[in-house]
Amino acid sequence: MRLLLLGGTSEARDLAAHLVAGRVDVTSSLAGRVAEPRLPVGKVRIGGFGGVTGLRSALAGYDAVVDATHPFALGMSANAVAACAATGVPLLRLERPGWEPDETWHYADSHEEAAALAGRLGNRPFLTVGRQELARFLPSLRRHAVLARVVQAPELAMPETWELVTSRGPYTLAGETLLMREHRSDVLVTKDSGGTYTWPKMEAAASLDVPVVVIRRPAAPDAVRVVNTVEAALGWVKEQSCAFS
Ligand code: NAP
Repeated sequence: MRLLLLGGTSEARDLAAHLVAGRVDVTSSLAGRVAEPRLPVGKVRIGGFGGVTGLRSALAGYDAVVDATHPFALGMSANAVAACAATGVPLLRLERPGWEPDETWHYADSHEEAAALAGRLGNRPFLTVGRQELARFLPSLRRHAVLARVVQAPELAMPETWELVTSRGPYTLAGETLLMREHRSDVLVTKDSGGTYTWPKMEAAASLDVPVVVIRRPAAPDAVRVVNTVEAALGWVKEQSCAFS
């Protein structure tokens, strides 16, 4: 069985490692957003497929798909649902659960709402929302002393009051506390990414009494089976393999 694994997440890399160890013919797919991505083991292809049409054509080379992209990578997930439905290729969504809600957090339904909220809550926001979303924070936070953390610098022209730090998780509580102390962050903004990779910033904010703005997850596409763990995804792949053997 030939499996296409839509990745770009730690779960996808973990799943790829298990599948390669189990001798499953898996190809991981990355969007190609960053210059030096963390590569999974096994076969890797990089770059978009060319929308639903391109993905439909690509699926001729695969028997099943696991979509393990980030919970905020809605476009890719929607394309996977459409292309798999059109071709009859079985699809599984592997999605890490969101963080357990905390009553002290301030929730926002969009990046723009999060920017406005952060602008009211503090003067020195710490933005951990990804390079692609930074532009959406400019209108509300142009004059704030923002610290923006990204994996790779954006092309965006940053205001003089903004400071950029490039790094990649996982992070530690000590490191996050030091970073937020040095910057004197007075509000943290994050997506509800879930998982443990970026959790220490939430602990650091709590210990420093810094308010947190959490951007809610967008609604996931319907009509797709969803599992939350790599183990469950492995079980599904095994079921599919039996169907193909
Ligand atoms: P997106 O908005 O959902 O996707 C936009 C387009 O990028 C897709 O239509 C597809 O292009 C291409 N693409 C996305 N993921 C791909 C993949 N795994 N393999 C091949 N093509 C892919 O995605 P995004 O939010 O920009 O995320 C891009 C990648 O970064 C994903 O792999 C995701 O898992 C990872 N990531 C995203 C976030 C986040 O917050 N969004 C955070 C961490 C990691 P075509 O239409 O041409 O096929």
